[in-house]
Formats: sequence, structure tokens, C-alpha cells
Amino acid sequence: MTLMFLFNFNNGDPNRPSFFEMFAQHQMMPSFKPALKYIFTVLSQRNSKFEIIVKYHDEFFYSMLLLLEYHYLKYYEGSFSENFYNLKRSVKVSKKNEPILQRLWDPSTADLQTNQTPAPTPKKDESTVKQLRRQTLLNLISKGSKEKETKPMTAKDQRISILYLVILPYIKTKLDEFYKKESDPINSLGLLNEDNIYPTISALYEASFFIYQLLYLYEYTDFYTPFLHLQRIVLKRLTHQDIENHSNAVTTRRNERLAIVRNWPLPYIVTPIVKILDSILDYTKFILPASVFLFKSLEWWYSENRASPPSLPVPPPPSQPKRAPNGLAIPDDKTQCPLCLKERTNPTICGSGFVFCYPCIFSYVQQHQKCPITFIPATTEHLRKIYETT
Ligand SMILES: [Zn+2]
Repeated sequence: MTLMFLFNFNNGDPNRPSFFEMFAQHQMMPSFKPALKYIFTVLSQRNSKFEIIVKYHDEFFYSMLLLLEYHYLKYYEGSFSENFYNLKRSVKVSKKNEPILQRLWDPSTADLQTNQTPAPTPKKDESTVKQLRRQTLLNLISKGSKEKETKPMTAKDQRISILYLVILPYIKTKLDEFYKKESDPINSLGLLNEDNIYPTISALYEASFFIYQLLYLYEYTDFYTPFLHLQRIVLKRLTHQDIENHSNAVTTRRNERLAIVRNWPLPYIVTPIVKILDSILDYTKFILPASVFLFKSLEWWYSENRASPPSLPVPPPPSQPKRAPNGLAIPDDKTQCPLCLKERTNPTICGSGFVFCYPCIFSYVQQHQKCPITFIPATTEHLRKIYETT
């Protein structure tokens, strides 16, 4: 509800996208990633060929994204999701380093005062005051528009955009994954100690985005993310002229590509392929959301109408954890306790999966906080007594 009231901030620039347009376009790509992963997971259960895509899903997703963003930045002046919401990127030209908190500093009030104090007319009747005010206002408007001057992206800006749109998010995903894996006590090999700073860095990264979004919402900045600020890129709504220019550029590009291909061997095979690939890139805007939507609705349809759950094979059990180099030997006799080497009494399982006598493992874990065989960290909380049914 409160968000609805916040919607109507307007600094008088009709080309400035609203917070909600920016929010939607920013969320679009991250929301496709799990959807696509889900699609490939389901497909891999039918056909094992898709397993490799699921395994290297991040690599697959980000290389597709690289291709897509390169194409859209080059021919549509914006990323895929920006173009989807009819936005384009332009570089802000400014001599001053004003932006982030420009409205807090608020040059307009300062200007108003300086412009009004040396008012030449000592006898101010109402009309001249009004005139003066209007003049000052007009000056301000023209000045304001000058400050917001932008120029189109260069090829260099496009390359840097790729870095921020694809490469850095990929690195962040991989770091998150690595941290998550390493901080899991079951997998931990002691690579990360407790005073690791990664969670702090990660939180600061997320917080910086949140702060920019808040500032954008209240129009204290023209940059929706810190990345856009680093590049001095502002987003604008596409005009009719822009859309026309894009479609003309697309036609020219297609014809140029086809002209090149025509001289290749086997033109009657290559030409249609090039045509199709070209169209796929341009129409991804419609294909991608439609396919996700279609798949999700199919999935919902089947889950609603399904009589019995799908008979998916049970995945293989996890393999036995390895013995640490100086770890306790695993006795050949399966009824023996590896600690006291006697027949196990009161069988109790440690986090690693090995079973000991309860008193043996309790005192060991209390003293060493790890499994005696694998050295996987453990606390007495991790111990579970095994109840066999006879
Ligand atoms: Zn024992």
C-alpha cells in the first residue's frame, strides 16, 4: 500500500523510468535463471543428455546471457530486460561530480537566492516580481536540462556494460556457491575459518544496491544501481524515433549478414539458418518469457491433473566419507566400535555417518569436536542414537 503512494514522484522528466519499471527490469533476468534451471532439471529426468546442462547450469546460463546482452546492447542500446521494458541506456554528460545526493545539496534553492538578491528594481510591483520569478524558473529548467544532457553509448560503454551485466554477476554467483559449500560443516575441509569476511562483503554489496534503489525512488540519484553509476549510465524510456531507428538498424544488419552469407558455399542451406538464428536473437524478447510461462502453466496443469506422482528413480546414496590421513582406522568387523575396538554398545552415529559406542564417541567429540575417523567437525549435538527394529 505505501508503495502505491510513493509511485507519483516526478521530477518533470517524462523520459525518466519510474522506480517500478526499473525494479521490474532489474528483477527480470535473475528470475529467469531458476525458471530455466527448473526446466532443464525436469528435461534431464526424461533425457540424460540434459544432465550436463543442469550440472554446468551457471556456465550455460551466463554464456547465453553474454550472447543475448551483446546483441541487445549493440542493436537496441540497452540490455535484454531494459529493452523488454522499452528502456535504453545513455551516458550522462556532466562536468561536475554532482549526482548521488544532488537533491540533498539542492542547487536550485541556492540558485534561486543568488538570482533573486541582486534584483535591480527597487520598486517591485507584483507583475515584475512574477516576471522575475518566471524568468528564474525558466533559467532553472534550461539549466536543469543541460545538466541532464546525455549521449549515446560508445562501443567501449557496451563492453563495460557486458562486464557489469554478465561477468560480475557470474563471479558473484560462483563465490556465493563456493562460500555456501565451504561453510557447510559436513563438507568443510577447514578452508574457511570462522572469522571469514565474505558474508560481510556480500552483505555490503547487496546493501549498496538497496541504498541506490531507495535513492532512485526518492529521486536523489539518476542511477538505479552502483554499477550504472560507475559507468555514468542513465536509463531512459524509448521514444517512437528510437524504436523506428532500432527496427531500421535491424533490417540493415540482416541484409548485410545475408549478403555476406550468399557468397558462402551452399547458400541455400546457410541462408535460412542465418535467418533463423538472427530472428531468434531479436525475438528472444517474446520467446523467452513466453516459453517460461508456457512451461510453468504446463507444469501446473500436470500437477493439478496428475493421478500419481512421477516415478522418478531414487538418486544413489552419498558415498562413504574418506578417512582423514591421521584418522582412526575403520575396523573390518562391522560390529566393532572404532574407538574402543570392542563390540559396540549403545550404537550412536556421528555426523560423518560412522557408528560408535555412545560413551566412546561422546567423550571423544566433547574433547576434540570432530569425528575420529574423518575429522569432519562435530559437536555432541550432532550425535544420534540408533534404534534398530527387531
Ligand atoms: Zn566403543
